[in-house]
Amino acid sequence: TAATGISRSRHATGELVRLDRERILHPLLPDGRQDRTVLVKGEGCRVWDADGREYLDASAVLGVMQVGHGRRELAAAAAEQLGRLDYFHTWGTITNDRAIELATRLTDLAPPGLDRVFYTSGGSEGNEIALRLARYYHHRKGASGRNWVLSRHTAYHGIGYGSGSLSGSPVYQDGFGPVVPNVHFLTPPHPYQKQWYAGEDPTDFCVRELEATIEKIGPEHIAAMIGEPVMGGYGAVVPPADYWPRVAEVLRRHGILLIFDEVVTAFGRTGRWYSAEHFGVVPDILVTAKGITSGYIPHGAVLVSEEVSEVVGAEGGFPIGFTYTGHPTACAVALSNLDIIEKEGLLANATGTGAYLAAGLRSRLLGLPAVGDVRQIGLMLAVQLVSDQETGADLPGGTLRVADALREQAGILVRNNAHALIVSPPLVLDRSTADKIVDGFCFVLERLGTDGSVR
Ligand code: PMP
Repeated sequence: TAATGISRSRHATGELVRLDRERILHPLLPDGRQDRTVLVKGEGCRVWDADGREYLDASAVLGVMQVGHGRRELAAAAAEQLGRLDYFHTWGTITNDRAIELATRLTDLAPPGLDRVFYTSGGSEGNEIALRLARYYHHRKGASGRNWVLSRHTAYHGIGYGSGSLSGSPVYQDGFGPVVPNVHFLTPPHPYQKQWYAGEDPTDFCVRELEATIEKIGPEHIAAMIGEPVMGGYGAVVPPADYWPRVAEVLRRHGILLIFDEVVTAFGRTGRWYSAEHFGVVPDILVTAKGITSGYIPHGAVLVSEEVSEVVGAEGGFPIGFTYTGHPTACAVALSNLDIIEKEGLLANATGTGAYLAAGLRSRLLGLPAVGDVRQIGLMLAVQLVSDQETGADLPGGTLRVADALREQAGILVRNNAHALIVSPPLVLDRSTADKIVDGFCFVLERLGTDGSVR
């Protein structure tokens, strides 16, 4: 540590690891794992641990860090704001210049019709608000019976009770019950998982299922449908081009609101400010977080149509708000972050370097026995690992061993789920760093067997 001069920790690494084991309840810690990677510094696409080891952050943390680590502009924006008006709430008639400026910027960038902003501190909070807005909108219109929400299997919307109840994997509900009722899960479109659609076109299958579900529950009982335009946590699942337009048409016909969860996909991750633009669909509510500040400070914004805002804000106003709604320092960091994304052309870079990275991964990995699929839109990519090319079945034991090998043997940090390695680097990624990701993946995956072991 001393040799690298990068750790200012008061403890030696071994001591930090011991204290971590004793004092921190980690999310998602695998069974019995005692090892820890103690990170102490970041710059661009790289981070360093307390022993001075360098890693390439091919995950942008969790698909968050658009502008890369170590940006002094963001530190300066936070310091300037903390030295002026550090924090105040925005309840009632109180507001602040930064919250106003950011709301103006976000809605100017948004598809037409999304004219108002409700601030949060993250994605789960955003989806809680989206759920509340949807039910409250119908309630205020005298249709309180519209309280069902449609979501999709394999979706991730967060871990609040509402957002967790909308998440389409049992892990967010099992053992935590009772969860929020009146949620129905539909089949998502996943072009690689052809067996989910029994030979039918995925969009036809999904739209037919949606119409049948609306008929069964009754449109007069359904408030909204929520979906990630491109599924992130499940592994960059890009829907067929006609899926969202057709779904939106059905929902509109039945007076059901459409909520887009763009917590991962907004602010350039897919090459656009909002991924809704790819599909030509404008939702009634659009939830953002993560890339809004590149994670430098927790923040989120829910974009709301004028129609929904007017209805929920009538007669006494929208009656709920978080302590940190409209936090001026978070808004100042977001503004500076959006400036960087714009000035450095990071949307175009996500499109160009994303395609370059995908081409490299495809040419070197497809054809390996355990690689089933490489998916990409912008700098949102996934490498799906399989034990059987025909069925697309998962690797036995999942993908954790592979993610560990990438970290230990290639110095590459990626996120993984049960089926896929998720590659979502900072949007400042250049081609030579993209080459390093491809080389590292090749080095490990060439030795990966369909039994899930890395030789
Ligand atoms: N929605 C989506 C699509 C996400 O990917 C995430 C986070 N990975 C969330 C919601 C939850 O956001 P947070 O962790 O900030 O609460």
